Amino acid sequence: MAQNVPGTRYDLHSHTTASDGVLSPADLVRRAVLMGVDVLAISDHDTLSGLAEARETIEQEQLPLCLIPAVEISTAWEGEEIHIVGLNVNVDNDALQTLLEQQSESRRQRARQMAHNLGQQLNRPELYEQVRQQAGEGAITRAHFARYLLQERLVSSLDQAFAHYLGSQHPAYVQPGWCTIAVAIEAIRGSGGKAVLAHPARYGLKVKQLRKLLLEFKQAGGQAMEVAHCQQNQDERLQLAKYASEFQLQASLGSDFHHPCAWLELGRNLWLPGGGTPVWYDWALCLEE
Ligand code: AMP
Ligand code: MN
Ligand code: MN
Ligand code: MN
Repeated sequence: MAQNVPGTRYDLHSHTTASDGVLSPADLVRRAVLMGVDVLAISDHDTLSGLAEARETIEQEQLPLCLIPAVEISTAWEGEEIHIVGLNVNVDNDALQTLLEQQSESRRQRARQMAHNLGQQLNRPELYEQVRQQAGEGAITRAHFARYLLQERLVSSLDQAFAHYLGSQHPAYVQPGWCTIAVAIEAIRGSGGKAVLAHPARYGLKVKQLRKLLLEFKQAGGQAMEVAHCQQNQDERLQLAKYASEFQLQASLGSDFHHPCAWLELGRNLWLPGGGTPVWYDWALCLEE
């Protein structure tokens, strides 16, 4: 077993058709290898259901990829939806599975209610079924609503779907029944995983609020935060690395890949500024056994 193999390419945040990614777990791991990724975390929204297929594909096709079993848990904090990635979780842990089942039920309820609201607003009674089809067997998220609105030419981009219909300021929005940050961290750590605050710069928080979030996340037992993402500018990355040091959080990185597109790719432009502790510093990897 090797730790911290130099030159290892990590991508510790990605999605499959088990939630709102468009590639199957099998296709995602194949793509990760093509992109030169050595260590990939699959972190679907509130579900572990994509991991088995990914693992089987790696084994059957003997892909040179280390798979980190992960999950991205939605939480409620001060009226915001804050995402926490659990890395290296034990997929057989009962308490984690119970929490994810509750979260998935909240997800289904919210999707039905939002589809009802939006269906009325747009006079499209079939909207729930259409969005449900977008999600297939996977967990339903607002990304599926956004894709439906784009396909129907009701918006001209996914961003616009959130800006015009799906964001918390709009009438169709439904407050979800997510767990607290503390509950998510406890379930992740209880299953042997590491709790990572996902994409801290993407919540649109003012500096004071962001610092409060980082402090409370740390106090609740959070261990790491995402510092690097492929689309961010250098200032943002350096600032996040500073926060990680200040709040004594390990540093993680990930593309948050959902679908192939020109501006975002698995493993692309992911590096950590020096000085901090990478989230993988104490991992034994499957790369060089
Ligand atoms: P939910 O978990 O149901 O609240 O859905 C959140 C998901 O919607 C995120 O994981 C993203 O995949 C997607 N999303 C959120 N904001 C945007 C945005 N502005 N543009 C495109 N996708 C977004
Ligand atoms: Mn998503
Ligand atoms: Mn997220
Ligand atoms: Mn994500």
